[in-house]
Amino acid sequence: MSASMKPRLVMKFGGTSVAGVERIRAVARLVKRQVELGYDVAVVVSAMSGETNKLVAFTREMSPLHDAREYDAIASTGENVTAGLTAVALDAIGVPARSWAGWQVPIKTDGVHGSASIVEIGVEGIVERFGQGVVAVVAGFQGVSPEGRVTTLGRGGSDTSAVALAAALGAERCDIYTDVDGVYTTDPRIVEKAQKLDKVSYEEMLEMASLGAKVLQTRSVEVAMIHKVRTQVLSSFDESAGENLPGTLVCDEDEIMEKRLVTGVAYSRDEAKITLVRVPDRPGVAASIFSPLADAGINVDMIVQNVSDDGKTTDMTFTTGKADFDRALKVLEDNRAAIGFERISTDPNVVKVSVIGVGMRTHAGVAQTMFKTLAEKGINIQVISTSEIKVSVLIAAEYTELAVRALHTAYGLDKA
Ligand code: ADP
Ligand code: ASP
Ligand code: MG
Repeated sequence: MSASMKPRLVMKFGGTSVAGVERIRAVARLVKRQVELGYDVAVVVSAMSGETNKLVAFTREMSPLHDAREYDAIASTGENVTAGLTAVALDAIGVPARSWAGWQVPIKTDGVHGSASIVEIGVEGIVERFGQGVVAVVAGFQGVSPEGRVTTLGRGGSDTSAVALAAALGAERCDIYTDVDGVYTTDPRIVEKAQKLDKVSYEEMLEMASLGAKVLQTRSVEVAMIHKVRTQVLSSFDESAGENLPGTLVCDEDEIMEKRLVTGVAYSRDEAKITLVRVPDRPGVAASIFSPLADAGINVDMIVQNVSDDGKTTDMTFTTGKADFDRALKVLEDNRAAIGFERISTDPNVVKVSVIGVGMRTHAGVAQTMFKTLAEKGINIQVISTSEIKVSVLIAAEYTELAVRALHTAYGLDKA
């Protein structure tokens, strides 16, 4: 069999998996195992854990109003270090390897610095090296803009680099190695009774990720779903991993036999609540609030409008991401005359808790169970939003763990 006929595998290692020299040696051993099993392997690495935070902090300290292109030039560098080190570690155990920065591959993105989207990946160079028996180690999280500048894909973006590379290479699978051994019914770090899922559908994983389960970056799940990349989440700390799909497979709904009503519970602390008090209750008022926010590129998530006693004014409550909070307040103040509110009241100490499951499409009562469970714990629901396969509520942040645990139990997700 010629080298080019081998099945291809993408193996991605997150920050804790490459946190130091010993961890990178362990990664090299995991990669070697797959090479010996007969795969052409492309490895995608994150920066060492904590490294990107440090680089981002330096940038902000230098100037809060820095150029986004320089942010990317700086924040992307952690991955260059681990890519080189991983190639060195592989070579040291007799596995020929070479590292690539994003622009060298090239991983072409759009020009949205700080959260760029991958447009195209040129895999010829990597495939050529596969033919020579070389493992490709690619720096995750980064790409190159049409202007030739380095871009980054948003925090947690190495997952997306890996899945997109797997799609471009036609890989058999994309394995995402991390510090947990799969996707759980909820964050195993806060609920001890969380259960590992053998399989989860793209759609449910997309909701879980976007609602706060940061085990996979949301965009990576989108790319996996569009290109039908079978994606496995597994632990790099278990060196027996890598055979017989020991982790969680993210795949098509049809592949999943066992159907649950609710698959998971997620929470996101990345929410801030804004209430515009006493806005005139007239047609067009919602547009006058949300259009300038949209024009400023600020995403509004949950919205609720309360009609006040006098029937002439209303309170409008909504949430934005914490990162957009200050800018949102400024936009609202700048448009105060046009909107006509009395005052703004804010609360950054809120959390969004969500239950997710494709079973909701066909079964009623999921939302009621959620409301009843929270009521029994004395937790007040501030805002509600629903979609076909999820129900989300906004509650005070201090109740996060209590709420997540209670819901996990209420939907029968606790492990025995
Ligand atoms: P990496 O650095 O490998 O990319 P991340 O920290 O981004 O790792 O993601 C792994 C973390 O995701 C876990 O440590 C876990 O705390 C968290 N997590 C949140 N929700 C879930 C979930 N439903 N299943 C598994 N892990 C989850
Ligand atoms: N190092 C980047 C981050 O911390 C990308 C990643 O880890 O996926 O966000
Ligand atoms: Mg991650």
